[in-house]
Amino acid sequence: MPFRLLAVLAHPDDESFGPGGTFARYADEGVDVHIAIATDGAAGSVATGYEEARERLADVRAVELVQAVEILGATLHNLGYRDSGYINDPANEHPAAFVQADLTEATGRVVRLIREIRPDVVITHDETGGYFHPDHIQCWRITTPAFHAAGDPEKFPEIAAPPFQPQRLYYTALPNTWLKIVVLMTRLMGRDPTKFGRNEDIDITKVGVDPGSIHARVPYKKYFNVKRKASAAHASQGGGGGFRLPIWLQRQFLSHDNFIRAYPPLPDVDKEHDLFAGIIPADNQ
Ligand SMILES: [Zn+2]
Repeated sequence: MPFRLLAVLAHPDDESFGPGGTFARYADEGVDVHIAIATDGAAGSVATGYEEARERLADVRAVELVQAVEILGATLHNLGYRDSGYINDPANEHPAAFVQADLTEATGRVVRLIREIRPDVVITHDETGGYFHPDHIQCWRITTPAFHAAGDPEKFPEIAAPPFQPQRLYYTALPNTWLKIVVLMTRLMGRDPTKFGRNEDIDITKVGVDPGSIHARVPYKKYFNVKRKASAAHASQGGGGGFRLPIWLQRQFLSHDNFIRAYPPLPDVDKEHDLFAGIIPADNQ
């Protein structure tokens, strides 16, 4: 049996703009990669030329997501929530918005996926959500308890699939050293790094974690173009082109993904370079 990986991420595009290189690499290496996206992306911004798609954005993004996940070589799952907006966005008030979800019920959706897929490794956003997006933080909020509950027969007994405990939990992380370069480049390009992104609502001077808190750096240089291709599938989101960094610089810095190992705790010694190092597939044990 191959290793299995489950990532629980917030939006259609997080799988590609985020650790897409890692997913492409593991899928190519024979890992059974599963990507669960929590929301429909309906509250996302739209790229220039996609203004008319505004009203049917969830449908447009669903199609883009299917393409992107196929390019990465993974299997797609949807948690089925409505996209919440960024901080203070009125979309957060929608009763179906992911941030309004009942936490126990939402945790159960992830427990069900874990019990059905039986992943060795689970990945989700960290508690900052990367850039403080409420949906990203919500993924962390439900996936962390789901990881610990999935193997406990007394938790969520109504889920028919048998209890299963994954071996490792990782959070995606952006080291702020890297972001300091982005802040510098942004300033050099005459833009304000406190008003980053298409909606100019992200302060990237506050984004990122201390590099000392990063446990795993997974190289994916060989899969840079797969990640780019998957990102490009999200055309209504600008296909990653909104990043506005020259390709040579992206290739330089987008060569590995960073993760914090949430479980089991890792003594702060050598960095990991492979999320599966030292474990054997659960169903081979
Ligand atoms: Zn997102």
